[in-house]
Amino acid sequence: MDDVSLLKLASTPAHEETARIMQICNACRYCEGFCAVFPAMERRRLFDVGDTAQLANLCHHCGACYHACQYAPPHEFAVNVPLTLAERRAETWAEFAWPGPLSGLFARNGLALVMIITVALALAVGLMLAMISPQLFWGVHIGEGAFYVLMPHTVMAGIPMAITAFTIVAFIVGWRRYWRGTGARWGGWPAFADAMSATATMRNLGGDNSGDGAGCPGPDDRNSLARRHYHHATFYGFMLCFASTSTGTLYHYLLGREAPYGYLELPVVLGTVGGIMLCVGTAGLWREKRRMEPAVRPLAKLGMDYAFIWILFWVSATGLVLLALRETSFMGLTLAIHLGLVYGFFLVLPYSKFVHGLYRFAALLADAGEARRSAM
Ligand code: SF4
Ligand code: SF4
Repeated sequence: MDDVSLLKLASTPAHEETARIMQICNACRYCEGFCAVFPAMERRRLFDVGDTAQLANLCHHCGACYHACQYAPPHEFAVNVPLTLAERRAETWAEFAWPGPLSGLFARNGLALVMIITVALALAVGLMLAMISPQLFWGVHIGEGAFYVLMPHTVMAGIPMAITAFTIVAFIVGWRRYWRGTGARWGGWPAFADAMSATATMRNLGGDNSGDGAGCPGPDDRNSLARRHYHHATFYGFMLCFASTSTGTLYHYLLGREAPYGYLELPVVLGTVGGIMLCVGTAGLWREKRRMEPAVRPLAKLGMDYAFIWILFWVSATGLVLLALRETSFMGLTLAIHLGLVYGFFLVLPYSKFVHGLYRFAALLADAGEARRSAM
């Protein structure tokens, strides 16, 4: 806690509302078994800006506490925990973003995403066309090294390496700001193992603190594990695609083999399975978001959510289309579109809904340490 003063979070209307509602919930405590937010709330009496930021990032916006709440509107207390925490959560992402001037992208995220991705797309196609003749662009290229007939490997790999370096720095600074801004403390390796387990299993999306509940409530008040399954498909699909890129890099530099690889080789198998999982997961998350109770949807932030889900879907889908068309004259076009989307996606990553994974893990890690200390 000694260096918390290095990052003073500002008080905002969403913080004030979160603090007000948490005072009511702390007196009521009906929802204490629903998720990690309520036990963490019960360890506090007062809620400063760091506390509300931590609680907001612990919430996974299932909506269960709204459905259960006897003080929800039209009651005069007007308790709406999911909506209030979602609004507080979104503003913490902007506060932790680096570099600071780009944090405004969160507020205009849907539009900003589309613009940046369009520019990245145009850049990829433009680079290709500037470097090769139309005959090559529309030609059929088969076998190892076929992609690099269209774009040299140094360009194709150099652009994402530069973007990734920037993204990693942005994430490290964001994490550090989260840690200092919320007053989080390292809880030791057992707490780290708890947080890893909660993340890997997405325990809280199970519908209660044990992870064995019936899932999140839908608009018809029936619970379902669909959100948990779609999150799993998206998360593990993303990890498989990352593994595909990593093994492809090893093939290139260690084995001296150039892409594209055979359909049954590891980079392609990992990428294909990961891409299909990502398509299914993101389409499912979009469906679940649309089914969510309207009263808990943060309308101003929905554009950011939808934009992120759809870009991730199209990055995956165009990767699969490229796989299907790579031995035809459409390889140049599909490669350009896929690369453009990939570059744009990674460029906006630190200012998109993607950060919810980063800060959620930070919140789970801080919470696991806090829970262990309070149990001693
Ligand atoms: S959300 Fe409502 S029912 Fe649940 S703890 Fe808060 S006040 Fe009580
Ligand atoms: S919306 Fe779900 S995760 Fe968020 S506080 Fe309510 S019960 Fe917990």
